[in-house]
Amino acid sequence: MLIFSNFAIYSECLMTSKNKLNIIAGPCSVESQEQLLTSTQALCSLPQVGLIRAGVWKPRSRPGGFEGLGEQALIWMQELQNSDLRMSDGRPVRFCCEIARPEHVDLCLRHNIKNAWIGARTTTNPFMVEEICKALRGTSMTVMVKNPICPDVKLWVGAIERIQKVCKEQVVAIHRGFYTYDNHGFRNAPLWDIALDMRRHLAETPIFCDPSHMAGNRLLIEPLVHMALQLAYDGLFIEVHHAPDQALTDAQQQITPRELLQLLQNIEGINTNTGDTLDNALAMLRQQIDNIDHDLLHLLAQRMTISRQIAQVKYQHEASAYQPTRWQQVLDNRLQQASNEGLDQHFVKELMEKIHAESLRIQIEK
Ligand code: PEP
Ligand code: MN
Repeated sequence: MLIFSNFAIYSECLMTSKNKLNIIAGPCSVESQEQLLTSTQALCSLPQVGLIRAGVWKPRSRPGGFEGLGEQALIWMQELQNSDLRMSDGRPVRFCCEIARPEHVDLCLRHNIKNAWIGARTTTNPFMVEEICKALRGTSMTVMVKNPICPDVKLWVGAIERIQKVCKEQVVAIHRGFYTYDNHGFRNAPLWDIALDMRRHLAETPIFCDPSHMAGNRLLIEPLVHMALQLAYDGLFIEVHHAPDQALTDAQQQITPRELLQLLQNIEGINTNTGDTLDNALAMLRQQIDNIDHDLLHLLAQRMTISRQIAQVKYQHEASAYQPTRWQQVLDNRLQQASNEGLDQHFVKELMEKIHAESLRIQIEK
């Protein structure tokens, strides 16, 4: 049962219809004219695919490999956009590609490519984001912003805010996972809580999930998509190649158009129960949650009042606010209770640390 975010405006090229999962799909890179045509023909007919992705500039970690076809790829994309090929909803084919330098914006616009994404490496670098913004100012490009490689929510929010200042079209966030010391079997660890944090900062910004770059391996894609659905993502940004094992870049994580269709069928129906029906079904449970939150806050306020009284007593006895032995006892005791109540230890530890920090702040400021 899922609630889909109800965004008022969508970029025309991204949205199929409200409450439907938007799909942006296509090969990691444009490799040849034939490959682009074959992928595009296969993807066009798939429902929900609103836009086709295809990388054009592909500098790799180490030099010497296939590095993308550059402007030649844009020429082929433009030809297909002008051909009789149509998406499943009858609109002309549209492409997006990665922009990593201001010149890329100019080249895309010269070839009528009006949708682009900023890659994870670029989001990491506000100098370059700023340069790209200068090139975007006054244009009508839809820009999607991938999360930065490192788990730093401010870089992601900052890049989106910079782009929002110059773009007339709606800006979209793409969650593609983060590089961490231990990626837990993923190419880029999803770290869903960082994406939630970003969404708290930018509640109006639609968010897509890129399970391909999270997974790095096609077998891990479907569970990631299910997770994205549970978290009410607005769409998927997914790598699809007609012969993935022969792909020149990211071969292991690409799936075939047929596999994408199967995936879409497997998740069909998950996003149907929205709006009034869902609200009615949840009304009583939500009322209980509201009451409990009310009581929790009231108890917290009482706890802080006692902290103020404690501050007075410590002051009179010239004792420091922080009492490490007492804090250790409190924490051990609460963790024991957490275990008895079936609560997650990590969660309760973080919660108690936050409460303790606030209590100390009140005592010190007193
Ligand atoms: C891509 O989508 O092809 C790409 C290079 O992505 P990222 O910036 O997420 O690595
Ligand atoms: Mn890729």
